[in-house]
Amino acid sequence: MKIIMLGAPGAGKGTYAKGIVEKYKIPTISTGDIFRQNIKEGTELGKKAKGYMDAGELVPDELVCDLVVDRLEKDDCKNGYILDGFPRTIPQAEALTAALKEKGTGIDFALDIEMEDQAIIDRMAGRRVCAKCGETYHAVNIPPKAEGICDKCGGNLEIRDDDQPETVKKRLGVYHEQTAPLIEYYRTQGILHEVDGNLGLKGVNNKIYEILGE
Ligand code: AMP
Repeated sequence: MKIIMLGAPGAGKGTYAKGIVEKYKIPTISTGDIFRQNIKEGTELGKKAKGYMDAGELVPDELVCDLVVDRLEKDDCKNGYILDGFPRTIPQAEALTAALKEKGTGIDFALDIEMEDQAIIDRMAGRRVCAKCGETYHAVNIPPKAEGICDKCGGNLEIRDDDQPETVKKRLGVYHEQTAPLIEYYRTQGILHEVDGNLGLKGVNNKIYEILGE
């Protein structure tokens, strides 16, 4: 089962992907996580990506596409995967379609998590991420057991650099301009499924499982 998570930054793609991972036993490939890991490790890729990310802009397509296509070759992807945060532009989607077509395959489901901008701005104000292991929380919706401390590894919870209010607004603008056209792209391919992102964690998960089937 090959799945793409679409939706604005902060709509909860990563959180819902976690539920799919547990239920369907397929990995999530998150380009944002890959970049953040590279920044942490101080790699060349991380250095190149950081400036764009901090400014709320997209990392150029040429730094993203090969990285993802190579990652999909790994053994853990043979039964499928969830793409979280990729593709983010039409050229990225076209590169993915072409790479998969070469292998005689394609994406099965594109799930679009729909939310209004204001709801996203409110939600992102509460988002916290573990500085050590990257686990995500929400001050109100998914709080940690002890305030400011990661349940999983005891690391400190922080606000992501690019979750600052001004950067969030910039990222939403970039989303509407460059990423939202993917909704029509996948609708045309006949694999788009729209999910109301206001249904709460359980409600959205159930809707997604209904779409994906058992
Ligand atoms: P995310 O964690 O998915 O919200 O991604 C955080 C940031 O990483 C984005 O704002 C972009 O700067 C960068 N990024 C992640 N995925 C992509 C992508 N597919 N194309 C370009 N930039 C990306």
